[in-house]
Amino acid sequence: MIIAGNWKMFRGPDPYALQELDAVVCPPYTRLRDCVDAGLATYAQNVHWEPEGPYTGEISPPMLLELGVAGSLVGHSERRQYFGETDDTVAKRARAALDAGLRVIACVGETRGERERGETEEVLRRQLSVLEPHPSLVLAYEPVWAIGTGLTATPEMAEEAHEFIKSILDLPVLYGGSVKPDNAAGLLAQSAVDGALVGGASLDVDSFTAICQAAARIPS
Ligand code: PEP
Repeated sequence: MIIAGNWKMFRGPDPYALQELDAVVCPPYTRLRDCVDAGLATYAQNVHWEPEGPYTGEISPPMLLELGVAGSLVGHSERRQYFGETDDTVAKRARAALDAGLRVIACVGETRGERERGETEEVLRRQLSVLEPHPSLVLAYEPVWAIGTGLTATPEMAEEAHEFIKSILDLPVLYGGSVKPDNAAGLLAQSAVDGALVGGASLDVDSFTAICQAAARIPS
């Protein structure tokens, strides 16, 4: 069971207050060093495919490794929605990071319109088609309509999507989308849900701790 906290472009909590948790944190770049120093499993929120070069605003796998960072998110829907991330660039980022020895959490998920039009499986199939199985690759199912909205997939909806994803790529799949202390146990109890990617609730030490504790209570 993996619980990962995505701090997005927020400064986030004191990493030392999270030291006892069995969790991954994805802070903004400026806090990577603090999180590594606190002994946390630390992932970046994005990573470029080249080791270095004229790519202003990007960061490369060797640069993250030099800091002691263990992995990176790729393909978060906010990257796809606001920064032109495509399936192709997600694939390049994932492959380069994995080849360099980083772990990767690759995010997939449909928008509200795509779900309403019955296109969820088609979208997931397309997003997954560019990824290949790898021992250090984990997927995150993050329905875009549930991210930061307070709406969440029901445990049954999450289970159905995760089973579909695993039928294409048999890898651990985290659920993400408004996971909170009061809905975490129900989502994490689903057999195809292998953990959670938590945004807003990971910014608060108490709520993130409560989610990690809910995960620890799920029999493995
Ligand atoms: C996320 O940013 O990956 C996320 C799931 O956010 P939230 O938990 O706030 O919906």
